[in-house]
Amino acid sequence: MREVKYTKNRTRDEEYEVSCIRCVGRTAHVVMASVELRGEEEDGDYSFGWAVDYQIIQCLGCKTVSFRSASTNSEDMVPIGDGQYESAIDESLYPSRIEGVKGLGDDTHYLPSAVRRIYDGTLNALSTPSPVLAAIGLRALLETVCKEKNASGKDLFKKIDDLVGKGILTPASAAILHKIRSLGNAAAHEVKPHSDKQLALAMDIIEHLLKDVYILPKQVESEFSDDEV
Ligand SMILES: [Zn+2]
Repeated sequence: MREVKYTKNRTRDEEYEVSCIRCVGRTAHVVMASVELRGEEEDGDYSFGWAVDYQIIQCLGCKTVSFRSASTNSEDMVPIGDGQYESAIDESLYPSRIEGVKGLGDDTHYLPSAVRRIYDGTLNALSTPSPVLAAIGLRALLETVCKEKNASGKDLFKKIDDLVGKGILTPASAAILHKIRSLGNAAAHEVKPHSDKQLALAMDIIEHLLKDVYILPKQVESEFSDDEV
């Protein structure tokens, strides 16, 4: 026997702490509207219950509206101490996002189209999350910037150091980029995923590079006419 019940707005006005697409970190989100599914499956002595909430949520900081789904079932429990258990919540957010990565937003239209395609794909891979693809994307973006800045050297390691010599990168950023370079290698050849935090940090440095190399020069060009400079 299988039974599914649908209800509306039972979780409206509830609040959840989730990552915001625009704000930094996790913020309180309120449910604007929701649909709840409650299911029961029975087979003789065996019974199984599950629940899914589909919610349109709004960040209480920046007001951005997005979507959350949360599912639980009677089998997946997590210990909360003292022999007590509660249902494990499987949460998904759309658009997908990861804490600490906000992306370049509208500024991406200053990027050359080939770079923008790799950037968008990398951001998507980061937030899906697909860490192996994200590491490969980060490496590709780094290679592109090195080419654009005519970094010399026979391999990416030397080229990153050359960017320091040219004053485009600080030694501290270069040290982290060397790690991304090997991140990309490991991802491509050994298929070893990296932590969200490592990748978010790497993305942060790459975004600064993209800003310095492509975005800021274009913005300066359009904001200051020749007679002003
Ligand atoms: Zn927000």
